[in-house]
Amino acid sequence: ADAALWLFADQLGPHFTDGPDTHDRDIVLIESAHALRHKGYHRQKLHLVLAAIRALRRDLGDRVTVVEAASYRAGLREYGRPVVVHEPGSHAAHRLVRRLREDGVVTEILPTPGFTLSTRDFAEWVRDRPRYVMEDFYRDQRRRHGVLLEPDGEPVGGRWNTDHDNREPPPSGADTLGVPAPWHPRENEIDERVRADLDAMSGLHTVGEDGPRRFAVSRTEAKRALRRFLDARLPTFGTHQDAMLGGDWAMSHALLSVPINLGLLDPLDVVRQAERRYHDGHAPLSSVEGFTRQILGWREWVWQLYWHLGPDYSRHNALRAETPLPAWWTELDADAVTARCLSVAMAGVRDRGYAHHIQRLMVLGNHALQRGYHPARLTEWFATAFVDGFPWVMPANVIGMSQYADGGIVATKPYAAGGAYINRMSDHCGDCVYDPKVRVGENACPYTAGYWAWMDRSAGRLRGNHRMAKPLGSLERLRDRAAVVEQEHDRNRF
Ligand code: FAD
Repeated sequence: ADAALWLFADQLGPHFTDGPDTHDRDIVLIESAHALRHKGYHRQKLHLVLAAIRALRRDLGDRVTVVEAASYRAGLREYGRPVVVHEPGSHAAHRLVRRLREDGVVTEILPTPGFTLSTRDFAEWVRDRPRYVMEDFYRDQRRRHGVLLEPDGEPVGGRWNTDHDNREPPPSGADTLGVPAPWHPRENEIDERVRADLDAMSGLHTVGEDGPRRFAVSRTEAKRALRRFLDARLPTFGTHQDAMLGGDWAMSHALLSVPINLGLLDPLDVVRQAERRYHDGHAPLSSVEGFTRQILGWREWVWQLYWHLGPDYSRHNALRAETPLPAWWTELDADAVTARCLSVAMAGVRDRGYAHHIQRLMVLGNHALQRGYHPARLTEWFATAFVDGFPWVMPANVIGMSQYADGGIVATKPYAAGGAYINRMSDHCGDCVYDPKVRVGENACPYTAGYWAWMDRSAGRLRGNHRMAKPLGSLERLRDRAAVVEQEHDRNRF
């Protein structure tokens, strides 16, 4: 075909390049200096993206041209041929692609194969629904794609949802979950080159440590990482999904968000391979359903909501949270933090650009919610400090789920919790100078005290939410309420 295929760095798998509209096209990728520089990304994130682009060029040889340019537009100009492109993953990129289409540089915008459902089909699904409920969407996804279903359309095992089995605290007394280690890459010449290029880029501002690369960036690596997860770790994926252990950063998590978000793996293929493990008797339903729910449910859901809720959604600030992010937070200074749980999660971000879901939601997000960090700034932080952060993934997860900044469009209640939750779900509190049961004084847990101070501050805005009626009642009865509020008002060490 005449027009080449322009790929963004999150469109790298065979489902993007070998489809009926794409298989016979030359490929162009642009290393845009603007895209690399205009935000303070985690060093390892820039490394992963550059390594992934260059791995594709290595693997597909002459079919691929990589253009280094100041911007995408400049890169396409330099390339000099018209291109087709898949629907990109952000509002900004979408606007750019549409303008390039008007200018004739882009001749066609193809639907993205990076997700299992088109935005048009979602719009139809969502029409006339009074509320957005992930569970309804997820069940329809299972039906739509025929995943984990009996021949009569009922869910295998008689249950759609195994969440109840997947919320166990960590095994008591254990330092690690004791499951087989995740796949990890062996660095190669590309990594060496990327590292040198990043070192040499003048004025590049990054956060976090450089470190050994931990995530898959090529198609072969992604397949290996997936294989390792399915064979060795999927069977234990479910049970302790919400648990945290200070000595086990990976637990039984998939560690696949990077290759999936880079577009190296086809999500439906990932799900079908997991499903096979259930039918083979290799992994229990709770693990396979739990994993399917993450990919076919949550991941697709936040993608769809990104487009459905639109660019203005990220401006919501229902709880009027205005606190700027403190420097220790933006600099990922885990050593400046005393609370064990928060220090461990922040160290994960600093050292790996990764923290697992419960650390993101119930430690980092929970802290930010309690301290009133500005939701749009926080969104920006999650998008830049995490190796798997991409624009589409942030609003529903951060503005909606984590910060309740949309006032209840995405989540039915705020994910705020005191130290008792963290103590139940982790081994952090035993080693911590703070006591999750103490609200006032030297060793008052910042999560426990912070929870009540936040409730006190937010009570007026939460009164309409019937799911908050009980905690608001407890707040009324809190004996030391005034002392907690006063103490937390001035707190700047956590
Ligand atoms: P697992 O726990 O093993 O889950 C398997 C896969 O399911 C993930 O690889 C991911 O592809 C998918 N998934 C599960 N939940 C979600 C979700 N809520 N949204 C999107 N995909 C999901 N995920 C990102 O990919 N990028 C982010 O920048 C990101 N930021 C987050 C910020 C906050 C505040 C919260 C609460 C969640 C965020 N998530 C994000 C979702 C989730 O925490 C990560 O996908 C997950 O921790 C990645 O690690 P894993 O591959 O080991 O995941």
